[in-house]
Amino acid sequence: MSTVWMSELSWVDYRERIQRDRPPVLLPVGALEQHGPHLPLGTDGLLASAVAADTAGQVAGLVAPTLSYGYKSQPKCGGGQHFCGTTSVDAATLIGQVRDAVREFARHGVDKLVIVNGHYENQWFLIEGIDLGLRDLGPQATLQVMRLEYWDFMTPDTLADVFPDGFPGFALEHAAVLETSMMLHHHPSLVRIDLLPDDGPADFPPYDMYPTRTDWVPPSGVLSSARGADAAKGRLLADEVSRRMAEAIRTGFQRP
Ligand code: ZN
Ligand code: MN
Repeated sequence: MSTVWMSELSWVDYRERIQRDRPPVLLPVGALEQHGPHLPLGTDGLLASAVAADTAGQVAGLVAPTLSYGYKSQPKCGGGQHFCGTTSVDAATLIGQVRDAVREFARHGVDKLVIVNGHYENQWFLIEGIDLGLRDLGPQATLQVMRLEYWDFMTPDTLADVFPDGFPGFALEHAAVLETSMMLHHHPSLVRIDLLPDDGPADFPPYDMYPTRTDWVPPSGVLSSARGADAAKGRLLADEVSRRMAEAIRTGFQRP
């Protein structure tokens, strides 16, 4: 089987793959967002793209180029908008990109589109883009869309292995053990393990304030410690996520 990357195919080869094989097309969505001093700004898109590629290899799928700008970073799950380098789009922009993608892939003849989200804040705007895109296409459209957050494919057993002292929850896992371990597995040359900060879990009140209170967020931008991150944990997580995402794609598109 040839490449999983849509951007590496000619239009002729792409058309043949779509018409002959009816492959699922995976569309990663990330963000350009601070991830502490030790991880790159593109972490969310890099990880969404990496798990999408591993999954595509198991289901003979294609991976479309990542939507690399995400919805605005929030203090409680991404550190907030006050960090230099965090570069976000308005909700309407992200919704419009996803709506356009749904319509375009349907026009190509794609019938299985999988939107692989790697940035917590994107979720509801992806849902809205899918809904508007399918509404544009109308009830005769054959395209179905699966939307997922890749971290939801991590099982409690694996999280217990990765966090022997207890799992702090996905929201606080920003630039912490999960993302750092997965980056050490997929992109080790992009991780500055010597710069790992040691901030404890951020302690947020049960409300939000606007303008946001930047003093709620550790200056490093990391919301819980990344100590304990390693490539073996990253591999365990990455393998489980891609294996279970592939299962979901095999079964989830079957209409009752
Ligand atoms: Zn992230
Ligand atoms: Mn993020």
